[in-house]
Amino acid sequence: MNRNKREKEYYSIDVGDSTFMVLKRYQNLRPIGSGAQGIVCSAYDHNFERNVAIKKLSRPFQNQTHAKRAYRELVLMKCVNHKNIIGLLNVFTPQKTLEEFQDVYLVMELMDANLCQVIQMELDHERLSYLLYQMLCGIKHLHAAGIIHRDLKPSNIVVKSDCTLKILDFGLARTAATGLLMTPYVVTRYYRAPEVILGMGYQANDIDQWNKVIEQLGTPSQEFLMKLNQSVRTYVENRPRYAGYTFEKLFPDVLFPADSENNKLKASQARDLLCKMLVIDASKRISVDEALKHPYINVWYDPTEVEAPPPAITDKQLDEREHTVDEWKELIYKEVFDCEERTKNGVVRGQPASIGEWSSSSVRERLRCIGCSWFCR
Ligand code: AMP
Repeated sequence: MNRNKREKEYYSIDVGDSTFMVLKRYQNLRPIGSGAQGIVCSAYDHNFERNVAIKKLSRPFQNQTHAKRAYRELVLMKCVNHKNIIGLLNVFTPQKTLEEFQDVYLVMELMDANLCQVIQMELDHERLSYLLYQMLCGIKHLHAAGIIHRDLKPSNIVVKSDCTLKILDFGLARTAATGLLMTPYVVTRYYRAPEVILGMGYQANDIDQWNKVIEQLGTPSQEFLMKLNQSVRTYVENRPRYAGYTFEKLFPDVLFPADSENNKLKASQARDLLCKMLVIDASKRISVDEALKHPYINVWYDPTEVEAPPPAITDKQLDEREHTVDEWKELIYKEVFDCEERTKNGVVRGQPASIGEWSSSSVRERLRCIGCSWFCR
């Protein structure tokens, strides 16, 4: 495309401290969130007459951590196509050549809120279990493709007012999980699994988190300690010893809706599931497959959602890649260029770029059961 034509397609707008340079089809930009990679805006897409979310990745190739994360996100978002994983609608860069290349914009389906906002609300068991079911479907789909998230937390999970849920990002690459301590980011670690914390070294933050886990759940058994490598074991053995609390104490009835016989039953099922999930030894923890069959969750079981065919990941070395800044720049630029070419044909993820999937009759049926909207932004 010639330079003049390309320039005319874009306009620039200030959003908070950042400037977005976006295609003219996207109007009414408003900031809705920010993460380690940058700012996210809502916008109206005049071409498809729908609202979208636009995330700006500023100079994503600037260092190893940024580059690996941006490249991984782009590649995986293009391959993965599941209703509980956020869908990519478009990708663009306003710069015209590899030499000028700076920023990447990801256009996604727009959701209403993240789980940080939703967990402040009083939710009934129907909604709680349906949200959890959808998280499990999304995680199962990622696992089926060999993707392990390692950093699932409320800010990475978004929901719509109709109670549909999507996982936002693809978490930490295997190699980035250890490298992250070297980055300047303040990363929320409270949601990380014990094995991830223990694999990370012992900065003040991690020690605090490990202590919090064992204060609540109790010092793990000797059998678990024997599975750790010597230096981690020494660390764990030298912590104070805690008996931990029972799950009835940790999650009493007052934390759940338990005002009727049915709700009492549901509360005890929810507690049972929690006690099987919050197990320090990963080999003894309930698996995603087992959780999907748990009585609290299996009421929602639909094979088309749970057993959706796994996506084929094209780049097999995704997590292991090591490159110089210039190489990352070229790799990311090529990915963006490939996406731009595909969206010209209306396709990003091997499917027409539309979100028709929510019209499935089973989902409509469920939403009718759940009723109307239960929160707003
Ligand atoms: P991220 O940079 O992907 O971690 O996103 C940061 C925050 O922006 C999230 O916690 C959400 O609150 C919001 N956000 C990101 N993507 C979307 C989306 N597609 N729809 C609605 N909100 C989003």
